[in-house]
Amino acid sequence: MKDRLFCVAFTGLLALATAARAEITVLIGHNENGAPTPSFDFRRVPHPAKTGTMGKFTIVDGKMDDASGGLGKLNDGRMPTEEDQPDENFFFNADTPGGRLRLDLNQVKTIKQINTYSWHPGTRGPQVYKLYAATGAAAGFNAAPKHGTDPAACGWTMIASVDTRSKDSEPGGQYGVSISDSAGAVGDYRYLLFDCSATETDDGFGNTFYSEISVLGPEEVAPAGAPSGDANPVESKPYVARTPDGKYEITFDTSRATNMAEWTTNKLAPALLEWYPKIVAYLPGDGYEAPKQFRVILRPGNGVADTSGNRVNAYVPWMKREMNGEAIGSLVHECVHVVQHYDSHPQNPHPARNPGYLVEGIADYYRWFKFEPQSKGAEISKRGLARANYDRSYRVTANFLNWVSEKYDQDLVPQLNAAMREGNYSTNLWTKNTGKTIQELNAEWKDALKKKVEGSAAGGG
Ligand SMILES: [Zn+2]
Repeated sequence: MKDRLFCVAFTGLLALATAARAEITVLIGHNENGAPTPSFDFRRVPHPAKTGTMGKFTIVDGKMDDASGGLGKLNDGRMPTEEDQPDENFFFNADTPGGRLRLDLNQVKTIKQINTYSWHPGTRGPQVYKLYAATGAAAGFNAAPKHGTDPAACGWTMIASVDTRSKDSEPGGQYGVSISDSAGAVGDYRYLLFDCSATETDDGFGNTFYSEISVLGPEEVAPAGAPSGDANPVESKPYVARTPDGKYEITFDTSRATNMAEWTTNKLAPALLEWYPKIVAYLPGDGYEAPKQFRVILRPGNGVADTSGNRVNAYVPWMKREMNGEAIGSLVHECVHVVQHYDSHPQNPHPARNPGYLVEGIADYYRWFKFEPQSKGAEISKRGLARANYDRSYRVTANFLNWVSEKYDQDLVPQLNAAMREGNYSTNLWTKNTGKTIQELNAEWKDALKKKVEGSAAGGG
């Protein structure tokens, strides 16, 4: 696969006056005909947003081809699975020069990235379009400028001109385009207008098979890291694998850590594929479905790992140092965060705040007492005893959870988790499940820890 980078500077009148300059970047990814990838993997163009894009597409000018799957295909998050699948794409009618599509995001939003994807073995593969954006608030705004009307003259801002055709390769294959602004966001807009052209006029079949258009806000775009430089594009292809039960898919991206690709495929992936379904089974919820897909990205940076939604970031320097140590366990901990999924409370408009020590404590409880109990990583030493308290987070809270579970209620952690996921956590839950307040449990636990430490010291004589 090949990617090309275009930096296009647009200098508006205002920008001239203030010397400020928005620099739009257009990245193009191409998997040549006959070499497709199942999830539209490109080296630098991100994957399509699996969740789709909120908003509504409308044809402003032109006519849809009746064989097309319709406008809904553009933002449903689903991709065609074959190279010539008319009903999984949107395209304008044969023998027409293209047309104009408007996306209404329903409200003004900060747009960080606009990604467009297409797939066809012939001239309906490449993409040729101009992109405009508008808030809708400009005086004289025309929401539906037809062919022949310059959008820039009726309230629209020109964002980019895209042409993925290449002189040195045959047209056809999978194409991905990613439009962003090097300085930050593309802008705050409600409407996007795609002025699409046919890719050729030799015959009537030059209208692009558009598979998906993803519009991403700041929280949906991963922070930019170091460019992959001269990394071998073949090695940088993500490793996509399914869990043994076939239910879940994990993508492992080592494009910025190619020297960890082997460890990732041979050591990390088998462990997470085995354990993710177990975590899902251990932390159920009424009507709750854990994410079916998520990504683990090995990336440069400081720290250990973090999780945001369906994206797990694993930071290379630490992971590399801990390859044969704590790396895999730390990512099992992150998988628990993927399953916890505490950020959404669909049934609960006024969710209670989840204590951070418990969020981390549950993840570490699973890691240390279910995944790798033999490592005894959450034992509390004589020195740690003085500082032990139920709310010290991570391993200490994990140890507390384990003690209360064993003594009072083996189902405690799944129950706490389910309440937290629904935004219904309260300290009363401890009393309800054990008959003791959390403070009483804390005191008992510390007592038991003390006895254990003293006992083992005496026993070891
Ligand atoms: Zn964590």
